[in-house]
Amino acid sequence: MDYSKLDYEKLGFKCGLEIHQQIEGKKLFCNCPTLNSKEKPDIRFERRLRAVAGETGDVDKAAKYETRKAKKYIYEADSRDCCLVEMDEEPPHPINKDAVDVCLQVALVLKAKIVDEIQVMRKTVVDGSNVSGFQRTALVAYDGSLETSKGIVRIPTICVEEEAAQKVETTKDYTKYRLDRLGIPLIEIATGPDIKDNEHAKEVAEKLGMILRSTKKVKRGIGTIRQDVNVSIRGKNRVEIKGFQEIRTMPAVIEREVKRQLSLKKKEEAHVRKVEPDGSTSYLRPMPGAARMYPETDVVPLKPDLKNIGAVKLISDEAKELEKIGLSKDLAYKLVKSEKKELFDQLVKNRNVKPSFIAETLVSYTPEILRNYKGKDPFRIKDEHFIRIFEALNKGEITKDSVMELLVDVASGKELIIEKSKAVSDEEIEKEVKKVVSENKNASVGALMGILMGKFRGRADGKKVMEILKKNV
Ligand SMILES: [Zn+2]
Repeated sequence: MDYSKLDYEKLGFKCGLEIHQQIEGKKLFCNCPTLNSKEKPDIRFERRLRAVAGETGDVDKAAKYETRKAKKYIYEADSRDCCLVEMDEEPPHPINKDAVDVCLQVALVLKAKIVDEIQVMRKTVVDGSNVSGFQRTALVAYDGSLETSKGIVRIPTICVEEEAAQKVETTKDYTKYRLDRLGIPLIEIATGPDIKDNEHAKEVAEKLGMILRSTKKVKRGIGTIRQDVNVSIRGKNRVEIKGFQEIRTMPAVIEREVKRQLSLKKKEEAHVRKVEPDGSTSYLRPMPGAARMYPETDVVPLKPDLKNIGAVKLISDEAKELEKIGLSKDLAYKLVKSEKKELFDQLVKNRNVKPSFIAETLVSYTPEILRNYKGKDPFRIKDEHFIRIFEALNKGEITKDSVMELLVDVASGKELIIEKSKAVSDEEIEKEVKKVVSENKNASVGALMGILMGKFRGRADGKKVMEILKKNV
């Protein structure tokens, strides 16, 4: 059978996503900062965990699976972002309201209904990634929706929960975790099984990611957002895929999973799979059941307060506004996704400078300096440097070509001296043109231009030089 062209609808493809995104600020149930420290640990202790029965009375299947492997858990942490709460030696503090507010903001964007009261629950976790043996989670909103190019995708739940500890080492005898990550607030968004095909999954993941980043209150970088994808086709059990490194790999991974399910010879149990670096997936563990939740009585329920929840300006809307002032779609997105949008808003007040040139400079100077100017440090360049350089450009004191040159100076640790790049006056250009023309009697216009631009080294506008040159040959 040829699976090269999959008809997702015909196959009874069902797919939903779960997005976990770390929120900036303090931890969810204590005052620790969320540094995600990787420094040498000054806290170290050991525990053994066992599976406990959930509220339905049975021990969860996934929990049993982990306990069978019963072993020692070693915990390490940096005391700067870990306290007795993470160590399970002190009860949780009241829930971090700022983190809840971020979830409320997102809930409003997704047109979800906000719960009357946020009740924290305990979710059994027995792989040792939570010292207490459970993860705290709370429903914040439900029944939301996301508009996509292929129809509405339902958002049944939006939760706030605590991040688990990070596994750093597994041996036959023990598993070692870093506790620094434990307790970082996460927003968890689950979609309904409304995703139509593999490309659609990517679109939904990207859109949710965009909404989350639009709050400007979520963490950025590798490992701060995770997408789990649930996939099944007609007649087969659901498989949950974890560990996507990049969203763009999602369509290929899903396609491979559908083909794998198609090629199954016998019935397979629902289970969790993990994405491998080559885009294939491998068995991780059984699917966790519903026996995992019970109320957390140590945390007082919180009434959501929408009074001070500001509206989120979506990155996609911001990008559209930038397109209106002449930025390409690609550049507009790059800029709003970068941390330079605020600086751009300030620099764009220099009316004589094209907004697209400002944007291009802001999104490209770091990679360009790192690539082309070895040993220079673009992180030396501060907002004030940009402000001075673009003001000079606006007044015509320097040319566009000098902008990068000046930035490289700053990146080299030199003082920013605008004077040195001051644009050459028309009179000076004319004088130099006459001199060069007389010295190079048989040279072509192109060759003369080359000589002249080499002399001015970015301090004169090429168009102007050409104009004056043409008058003098
Ligand atoms: Zn703490």
